[in-house]
Amino acid sequence: MTYQTQVAIIGAGPAGLSAALEVAKQGGKVMVFDENDRAGGQLFKQIHKFFGSGHHGAGVRGIRLGQQLLEQCIQSGVEICLSTVVFGIFPGNELGIVKDGRSHTVKADKILIAAGAGEKPLAFPGWDLPGVMGAGAAQTMVNINRVRPGNRILTIGSGNVGLVVSYQLLQAGASVAGIVEGLPKINGYAVHANKLMRQGVPVYLSHTVIEARGDGQVEEAVIAEVGPGFVPIEGTEQTLSVDTICLAVGLTPSVELPRMAELAMVHLPKMGGYIPLHDSHMRSSNPDIYVAGDVAGIEEASTAMEEGKLAGVSMAEALGLVSAQRARELAGEIEERIGELRIGSHGDARRMAKEEIVRGYEAWLAKQK
Ligand SMILES: Cc1cc2nc3c(=O)[nH]c(=O)nc-3n(C[C@H](O)[C@H](O)[C@H](O)COP(=O)(O)OP(=O)(O)OC[C@H]3O[C@@H](n4cnc5c(N)ncnc54)[C@H](O)[C@@H]3O)c2cc1C
Repeated sequence: MTYQTQVAIIGAGPAGLSAALEVAKQGGKVMVFDENDRAGGQLFKQIHKFFGSGHHGAGVRGIRLGQQLLEQCIQSGVEICLSTVVFGIFPGNELGIVKDGRSHTVKADKILIAAGAGEKPLAFPGWDLPGVMGAGAAQTMVNINRVRPGNRILTIGSGNVGLVVSYQLLQAGASVAGIVEGLPKINGYAVHANKLMRQGVPVYLSHTVIEARGDGQVEEAVIAEVGPGFVPIEGTEQTLSVDTICLAVGLTPSVELPRMAELAMVHLPKMGGYIPLHDSHMRSSNPDIYVAGDVAGIEEASTAMEEGKLAGVSMAEALGLVSAQRARELAGEIEERIGELRIGSHGDARRMAKEEIVRGYEAWLAKQK
């Protein structure tokens, strides 16, 4: 079967749903596709109260933010197709989808890729033992499937993902043997780290994991202090008795579909890896394809929502659903809110990286002329 829509959105996370809502508000026909059986992307795993600014749901649980967005989309007539995998983007703005074991085609005037991110791995002897997993995988097990991945956890990485997931594993009844961080300081927000430290969880700064040991599954982790260049210092090894090692060493944008669509890319390690070049309103090197959220550079749900709105306004304008002047006004308001999110040392770095992506897009565009 072939479906026809004005806007097709891949990913029902905060970026995809926010974009869908914006287009629907302007009267556009939108279809959103997500491989999961629930909408909300990462938000549905996040039972903690969000950090960030009051404008962006700080203090509200991620799961609640996802529900609010979903309800607004449904009320606005957005069609959300769950348990549906988008397996390809083909010339002529066609998507290949699989639903209920059958493949179908979707033809769209505009496409938004809001496919999120995947977890980065970390290789060390024993990393392939059962019990070594991504922190996001552990979060899915515990918060979605209600399965505790293990009883004694070691987390590698003290960014917000590592800290939040470790705390949620504690809440689920596991003990956390420690947080291991290569840097000499905690990488995530103090509010998350303090909650763990109050529960007696040790934080091993300037340390790394050097080996996982066990007979058929993780039974021990060996950690060591690191010197310059993150090289383990001999003689500082410690062995911890754990059955699960959660890797929270960063996310990388899910760029399989952007690659298939042959979008121009840039490699920016500080934003997670390869990122599709895009203009300041989220349009990629293919004028009919837009990107938003983690796929356009790893940030946070609040930024993903604002970028989704920006892409939504941009697509609505390109489709003639909203005047250029109104689109400029709406985009200006969104950009102001994004500016509020990209402050502080982490925020400044993200703002500069985003500017680099837009400059890369402009350079790419100039070469095409
Ligand atoms: C543990 C953890 C805690 C966090 N805490 C916070 C926080 O407190 N505050 C905050 O602001 N941010 C937080 N974040 C970050 C935030 O969750 C992400 O930045 C945000 O979800 C990104 O939104 P997105 O829409 O780009 O992607 P996602 O939320 O990842 O949504 C993408 C969706 O696309 C689907 N998809 C991908 N490819 C396909 C395909 N081919 N076919 C169909 N569907 C597809 C995915 O399954 C997913 O549902 C946290 C993240 C983690 C992992």
